[in-house]
Amino acid sequence: MFPEFTLRYARLPDRFFLRFDPVPVKAPRLVAFNRALAEQLGFDLTAFDEQQAAEWFAGNTVPEGAVPLAQAYAGHQFGHFNPRLGDGRAVLLGEVTDREGHLRDIQLKGAGCTPFSRGADGRAPLGPVLREYLISEAMHLLGVPTTRALAAVTTGERVFRRVPEPGAVLTRVAASHLRVGTFQYFAAREDLEAVRTLADLAIERHYPELASREESERYLALVEAVQARQAALVAKWMGLGFIHGVMNTDNCSIAGETIDYGPCAFMEAYDPDTLFSSIDEGGRYAYRNQPWIAQWNLARFAETLLPLIDDDQERAVDGATTVIKAFEEQYEAEWLVVMREKLGLVKQEEGDRALVEAFLEALQSGRADFTLAFRRLSEAVEEDAPTLLELFETREGIEAWLPRWRERLAREEVGPEAIAERLRTVNPLYIPRNHKVEEALTAAAEDNDFTPFEALREVLADPFTEQPGREAYALPAPPTAAVFRTFCGT
Ligand code: AMP
Ligand code: MG
Repeated sequence: MFPEFTLRYARLPDRFFLRFDPVPVKAPRLVAFNRALAEQLGFDLTAFDEQQAAEWFAGNTVPEGAVPLAQAYAGHQFGHFNPRLGDGRAVLLGEVTDREGHLRDIQLKGAGCTPFSRGADGRAPLGPVLREYLISEAMHLLGVPTTRALAAVTTGERVFRRVPEPGAVLTRVAASHLRVGTFQYFAAREDLEAVRTLADLAIERHYPELASREESERYLALVEAVQARQAALVAKWMGLGFIHGVMNTDNCSIAGETIDYGPCAFMEAYDPDTLFSSIDEGGRYAYRNQPWIAQWNLARFAETLLPLIDDDQERAVDGATTVIKAFEEQYEAEWLVVMREKLGLVKQEEGDRALVEAFLEALQSGRADFTLAFRRLSEAVEEDAPTLLELFETREGIEAWLPRWRERLAREEVGPEAIAERLRTVNPLYIPRNHKVEEALTAAAEDNDFTPFEALREVLADPFTEQPGREAYALPAPPTAAVFRTFCGT
């Protein structure tokens, strides 16, 4: 069933990883499988055997040609540097070549205690596994670069967090698992050769256009390229009200994918200070801070490459500083691209930024649901729509804004119908609402009932199209079910 493994990472020198076979589990059961993704990865599904698949995705059977390993990395966690994190419970089976010819990592998360476990249990509870499954797949369908979920299995064993929970393993697919923290691991050891190897691997896998650049330019160009992807990525998060929640440098992907779905959540009523994670006491990773944290992480990345950027350290620092400084402008530009689209604007005008900001102010003062407010703009292109207005607790802001917006829309090349259609293709109706996610996870973990999970998965598979009978999935949480805190508990 598995496609052929390439073993790119396993061929790196020994100090990049520790060979580690997944620890078998008691009674693996396949609870979710992503057929479309499997096909894209070249899996042969003609004789698909569910029990065999469960054995594979639990790590009980290692597929032929895989060389399982735990990757070494470091990372700044909430601003504090930890020189040795590494895969404490994840195992990379190897890389496969997808239908488009790209290498993709296949990793089992929750596969047992590796030598990087630091006293933790090496396992994952079912709730967080399903959470990552649902949200990463939803992000993909919402058009955001992200790691993907190929399968989830339960293990037949219990894991102990706040309460005992069913154990599970997630099969994660990524463009790669190279992180800012991977570079930091070797930079902290002053292992310049290893940093160069990693940088060349990042170029080979994610930025092949840089391979032909002069060596004297290549590594600063890599910082720029990673930065461009991060700026675009975070702008997309901001456009969806997505809050990652743990933007530590070990969770910052060199490929520019969203990675590590822990306490992440989508904002409902618009407030830039929104923060869900219970472990983020200082609000470091609140919604409004995300771009600036991405920039901070990129600065840490650039630091690891300084010796490769220029022999003269002063010149290296100057070059890197100039690049990192430019993040602000790049991000602002990406953000404006996202927000213009969300308001149905294709032309670019001077006043657009102010128009976006005024809309956000109206959302904030009216405590309106972020997702639905954008979505229902499609109903208000020509005249005030009660469906939109009812989202606002106070309406002065939005009522003053709508005529301004329409005046601007009148200068677009297309008419109201086409603009409404445009709005519906960029502003989703369905996102993984926190209370719906919680409901699905609780039913699965506490009652072994996967119906709500399946139902939510189905709704999220088509986020831009109205699905009759599924209105409840589009609505913010009723006050009794609102989720204000998410727990890492992973
Ligand atoms: P995360 O918060 O998921 O980004 O993880 C940070 C670090 O903690 C990584 O090195 C993980 O591998 C490790 N880690 C998280 N949970 C566990 C666990 N249950 N067992 C072992 N290591 C873990
Ligand atoms: Mg992580």
